[in-house]
Amino acid sequence: MFFVVQTSHQGELAQLGERLLCTQEVSGSNPLFSTRMDDKALFKIAGEAAEKAYAPFSGYKVGAALLTARGNVYLGANVENSSYGATICAERTAAVKAVTDGEREFIAIAVSAPGSGGPAWPCGICRQFLFEFGGELRVITGTDEDNLEIALLNELLVNGFRLNKDYSGIKNEQ
Ligand SMILES: [Zn+2]
Repeated sequence: MFFVVQTSHQGELAQLGERLLCTQEVSGSNPLFSTRMDDKALFKIAGEAAEKAYAPFSGYKVGAALLTARGNVYLGANVENSSYGATICAERTAAVKAVTDGEREFIAIAVSAPGSGGPAWPCGICRQFLFEFGGELRVITGTDEDNLEIALLNELLVNGFRLNKDYSGIKNEQ
């Protein structure tokens, strides 16, 4: 079952969700097995999410679209702050929305900074933040929909840190 969190693009997202769910069904446990169209669709709505960014200081507006194992898509945008250090990125905004909605398993995240002229790879903090929920996350970015760049989070954050339940540190899950 697909559920859309944000209502402003409900029709389009519902169609996207159906396509993404189909991808999940055929992809099994291999997160790299996905059609180009699905990546483009997720990247497209990430770019639309960037319109909601609050970036009066940098002017660098970023959007993220996070696909969960349940088939939900959570959108995020960067929110800057006068103190600078309190700024939060689009990726973490999307992840916090998903986690506080009960989601724990993530399939893919698309990140877009429309008009920036380049890809928008997650920063170091976001890589570590997302790694908490699994290193197999598929990360999609690019300069535009026809020039996507894709990597697994494990590749972007080698030996990411995560605590065991007994609070002993562990290395990369692989
Ligand atoms: Zn970040």
